[in-house]
Amino acid sequence: MREPIVIALDGTSASGKSTNAKLVAKALGYLYVDTGAMYRSLAWHCLEKRVALDNEKAIASLCRRWKAALRNDDGHIRLYVDGYFPEKEIRTSETSAAVPTVAAVPGVRKWMKIKQRDCAQFGNLVMEGRDIGSNIFPETDFKYYLNASLDERAKRRAADGVDENLAERDKRDSQRAAAPLMIALGARVIDNSAMTAEETSTLIINEMRERLEAAG
Ligand code: C5P
Repeated sequence: MREPIVIALDGTSASGKSTNAKLVAKALGYLYVDTGAMYRSLAWHCLEKRVALDNEKAIASLCRRWKAALRNDDGHIRLYVDGYFPEKEIRTSETSAAVPTVAAVPGVRKWMKIKQRDCAQFGNLVMEGRDIGSNIFPETDFKYYLNASLDERAKRRAADGVDENLAERDKRDSQRAAAPLMIALGARVIDNSAMTAEETSTLIINEMRERLEAAG
């Protein structure tokens, strides 16, 4: 049987990864995976369980023990915690501020890598994150890296009603030792500061269609 195809879509915070990943997945009939939501869920779970964020061991231990399982919700692969997907809770500013700390713990990244690779059991994927092309599916031929100016990204977040320090989150994601945010080898870099989501996704969709056709 043919291996599932994985499109890795990495990039900075608020660079349009989610919107574009969803549009590309829909156009190609692929499943969509938001790996940021998985780290956010763990950060939320740590806050719920009152695990100290400066205690790496406790975070890694909670991650090894939590009852988290993948589910396919209408083409979105999601990580459920104790049978619950904390959709709203993972978007609060408290969770956003906590997530880079949780995401920097090596034991957490090891656990996430296994779960994220396991998503391929459901079929072809568009997976968005920070280290998908560099670390989770380094073997995929289909890698994209989205970016936009800090000013533009801050405007996009503000339009969503979210006020947060994006530069600080990017810095923490890029400077951590374990699987930092980086442009994967062979990734096509798209600066979409002056592009709409439709323009960005059309570029990826058209290129993917050509490449898939060429690959037979
Ligand atoms: O994509 P999103 O902004 O929801 O990601 C939230 C946070 O999760 C990031 O700032 C980063 O700390 C972490 N993350 C990560 N690796 C991924 C996806 C997200 O470290 N693949």
